[in-house]
Amino acid sequence: MADQRVVGATGGSIAEAAVRDFQAGLRGDLLCSDDDGYDVTRRVFNGMVDRRPAVIVRCAGTADVIRGVGFAQAHDLPLSIRGGGHSVAGSAVCDGGLMLDLSGMKGIRIDPARRTAQAQPGLTLGEFDHETQAFELATTLGVISMTGIAGLTLGGGLGWLNGKYGLACDNLLAADVVTADGRLLAASPAEHDDLFWAIRGGGGNFGVVTSFTYRLHPVGTVLGGGVTYPPARAREALRFYHEFASTCPDELSTAASLGLAEDGRPVVSVAACYCGPIEDGERVLRPLRAFGPPSADGIQPMPYLALQSGSDAGFPFGRQHYWKSSYLQDLSDDAVEVLLRFVAEKPSPISGVGLQQMCGAASRVDPAATAFPHRERHYDFLILSQWDDPADSARNVGWTRAFFEAMGPFLERGVYANNLGEEGEDRVKAAYGANYERLAALKQKYDPTNLFHLNHNITPTLR
Ligand SMILES: Cc1cc2nc3c(=O)[nH]c(=O)nc-3n(C[C@H](O)[C@H](O)[C@H](O)COP(=O)(O)OP(=O)(O)OC[C@H]3O[C@@H](n4cnc5c(N)ncnc54)[C@H](O)[C@@H]3O)c2cc1C
Repeated sequence: MADQRVVGATGGSIAEAAVRDFQAGLRGDLLCSDDDGYDVTRRVFNGMVDRRPAVIVRCAGTADVIRGVGFAQAHDLPLSIRGGGHSVAGSAVCDGGLMLDLSGMKGIRIDPARRTAQAQPGLTLGEFDHETQAFELATTLGVISMTGIAGLTLGGGLGWLNGKYGLACDNLLAADVVTADGRLLAASPAEHDDLFWAIRGGGGNFGVVTSFTYRLHPVGTVLGGGVTYPPARAREALRFYHEFASTCPDELSTAASLGLAEDGRPVVSVAACYCGPIEDGERVLRPLRAFGPPSADGIQPMPYLALQSGSDAGFPFGRQHYWKSSYLQDLSDDAVEVLLRFVAEKPSPISGVGLQQMCGAASRVDPAATAFPHRERHYDFLILSQWDDPADSARNVGWTRAFFEAMGPFLERGVYANNLGEEGEDRVKAAYGANYERLAALKQKYDPTNLFHLNHNITPTLR
C-alpha cells in the first residue's frame, strides 16, 4: 500500500497508521488505489459505473466484515457491499469510501437429507447451483449464472422455479447479519424475526449478510429452452403468449423477449422451464410449440444447470447498461403496438426487452409476509439496454426513456428493486410499496444513522 494518507468522503483524511492498524487485523487483503488488483476489484457488471473507493477489503470471512463495518463507522466513510457485482445501479462500489468485497467468500454446505444449503455471500448463482445439483436439488435463483446470490436474494430473486417454489427470498430459512453496530445477529423466524422479515426484499439496507440458509427442492432434468416465432406473426405471438402464460401451471415459468430479426423486423421469443415430470411438461408446452409454427424450437429435456447458464453469453461483464422496468399485468393490444414500435427502432442490436413471468407460488404469498411486496400474477417488464461504445450512451439512454414513457399507461406503479438504477426516492418507494413504512421503522431500529445507504435506500423513520 503506497498511499501515505487515504482520503475519506467527508473531505478529511485517515492517517496511514489507522489504515495499517485496520489492515493488520484483517485476514483478507486491503487494497488502495495503487495496489495490484485495485482496478479489477472495483469493476462491476455495468461498465457505465466507474467509482474509486478509498479502500477495498477483500473479506475472507465474517471477522473481516465486522472489522470493516467498525472502521467505516469510526472514520465516517461511505460503505458499499459487493456480492456478485451485478447491480445495474453499481451500488456495490463507492467513491472515496470503503468497499467490502465479499466475492471471495464462497463457502457452501449442502445437507441433502434436510434439503438445505448454507451459503456464503460471494457465491454466484452458477456456483451455488453447481453444488446443489450434485444432489439433484435446487432453489429459485435468477436466470444468468454469473449473478450474485446475495443481492439477488435480498431484493427478492425471480427465476425459473418461482411458480413452483416461490422467490429466492421465500426459500430463505435463516441468515447471519452484521448490523451497523458491529454485532452478528442470527435472523430467522425464531430469532430477530423482524430483521428476517426485512432482509427478504429490503435489500442491503439492514446489514451485511454473511451466511444464507436456503430450503432446497428436488430438481434435476427440466423441460427447458425456447421457441422463436416468425416476424410476420410477432403481434399475434405476443397475444397468444399472454393467454398461454395466464393459465400455466405452477411447474411452468416462462419469459417472453423481443429482438430484431435479420431483416430488421421485431421478433418474439418465449423461453420456458417446466420443472415437473417431463411427459406432463411435453403436454403443457404443446400449444406454445405449435403456435406459429415457430421458426426455431429449442425446447428439450435438459439438465437444470444447462438451462441456468444457457443465456450467459448475452450478458458479459463490463458493457454499458441502462435499464428501465416496472411490472405489467395485462398485455393489451395497445401495449403490444408500443412494444413493437420501439423494438423496431432500437439503437443497439444487443439491447432487449423482456417479460419475465411471476406466477404460481411466488404470487400467492401474502404481500406483508416478507418485505418483498409485489405478489400479483404479472410480468417483470424490463427494457434492458446494453451497448459497447460509451459514445453511444446518449442515444441508447434516450431511446430507453422514451420507450418506458410510452409504456407508462400500461405499467403498474410497482417496480422490482433489483432492476432499479439510480432513479430517485419515488421509484425506491414504489419498489418497497406498502411495506415501506414498516421497513423504515426497522431501518431506524437496526441502522439509525443509515450507515448502509449505498443501496435502494430506505430512510430511517425518525430522520
Ligand atoms: C445480467 C443480469 C441478469 C439478472 N437476472 C436476474 C434474474 O433472473 N432474477 C432476478 O431476480 N434478478 C436478476 N438480476 C438482478 C439482480 O438480482 C441484481 O442485480 C442483484 O443486485 C445482483 O446481486 P449481486 O450480489 O450480484 O449484486 P451486487 O452488485 O454485488 O450488490 C448489489 C447490492 O446488494 C446488496 N448486497 C449485496 N451483497 C450483500 C450482502 N452480503 N449483505 C448485504 N447487502 C448485500 C448491497 O446493497 C449491494 O449494493 C439480474 C441482473 C443482471 C445484471
